[in-house]
Amino acid sequence: MDIFPEMQRYGYEQVVLCHDRATGLRAIICIHDTTLGPGLGGCRMWTYPNEAAAVADAMRLARAMTYKTAAAGLDLGGAKAVIIGDPRTDKSEGLFRAFGRYVQSLQGRYITAEDVGTTVDDMDIIRLETEFVTGTSAAGSSGDPSPATAFGVWRGMKACAGAVWGEESLQKRTVAIQGVGSVGYHLAEHLADEGARLVVTDIRADKVERVVKEFGARAVDPDVVLDVDCDVFAPCALGGVLNENTIPRLKCKVVAGAANNQLATEDDARRLAERGILWAPDYVINAGGLINVADELLGYDRDRAFRKVGDIYHNVRRVIEIASAEGIPTSQAADRMAERRMELIGKLKHKYIPRGR
Ligand code: NAD
Repeated sequence: MDIFPEMQRYGYEQVVLCHDRATGLRAIICIHDTTLGPGLGGCRMWTYPNEAAAVADAMRLARAMTYKTAAAGLDLGGAKAVIIGDPRTDKSEGLFRAFGRYVQSLQGRYITAEDVGTTVDDMDIIRLETEFVTGTSAAGSSGDPSPATAFGVWRGMKACAGAVWGEESLQKRTVAIQGVGSVGYHLAEHLADEGARLVVTDIRADKVERVVKEFGARAVDPDVVLDVDCDVFAPCALGGVLNENTIPRLKCKVVAGAANNQLATEDDARRLAERGILWAPDYVINAGGLINVADELLGYDRDRAFRKVGDIYHNVRRVIEIASAEGIPTSQAADRMAERRMELIGKLKHKYIPRGR
């Protein structure tokens, strides 16, 4: 991949290659777009096959963050970092401090966070070198994002229910949850409290047992969850779960879940729409964890953060409205919603306003 043509094509602002000889750090920080504010995005640590793959991943993930923050209504842009290395063997205090110094050098244009391969402990080390880090263990940090993500998914699911059945309550609706790990478990709890009927699956028997016992869910095998007769299918495990083979099997009217990158291809959004299934775009409905962690930038307040997460209801509703008014799949409608917000707020920000004293 040639980097500049890619930057030009998608409007990337900055790609920073970071190297530190003493610690062996090799990292890429990619800032896609700061129209709405500083670029927030996790720092992934991964054994990439080559550096081109690492750059491509950082760029792809940074751009996805721009859409996610914009659609979530946050005053933040999109960015992402990757550290090349094996998270099981290559971590050291020096490595993360070296990375933290690079984050600091960007003076707040990039704010880092946990991601695949990095932990709260790593963020604590990064914090020794920069203030531009979230998800640390320090007082006032937002902690595990999963309860917030689950709350947002539940709110978004209700927006879908309102659009499909004219009644947002999920009481007596059957919801099939694929994956009852961190997010799936909390989602099951909200749904059980509301009186929904739960069908659950997981490849881990202990996870299934817990929701069966605590919430009276019915367990099914992982390979049949897509065939279950239900009102809502909630993918909370894997990406790529909605594809040309699985979509024809679905018996639900709504797909709304936490998993990232649920569609195998963009065509799958159309396939779902053609089958009359309403799909809540993943990056809109699963933004609760992001909204929660972003609240740390204001001095974390859990009630305020969860109020904002609750607004995912309105974000999903807006996406559905755009899709139906413009005759497009909800995936495209979500992108348009994000792009329009960036355009509008970007225009506002071009006006010069003298700063207060
Ligand atoms: P998790 O690892 O805690 O839970 C995932 C569960 O899915 C596990 O219990 C796992 O055993 C199960 N699973 C894996 N393969 C399966 C299969 N084939 N069939 C059934 N179950 C399977 O992860 P999580 O934090 O709950 O996240 C779930 C999904 O939501 C992931 O795709 C994640 O990227 C996405 N997500 C999570 C958050 C968050 O705040 N945790 C935020 C945004 C998106």
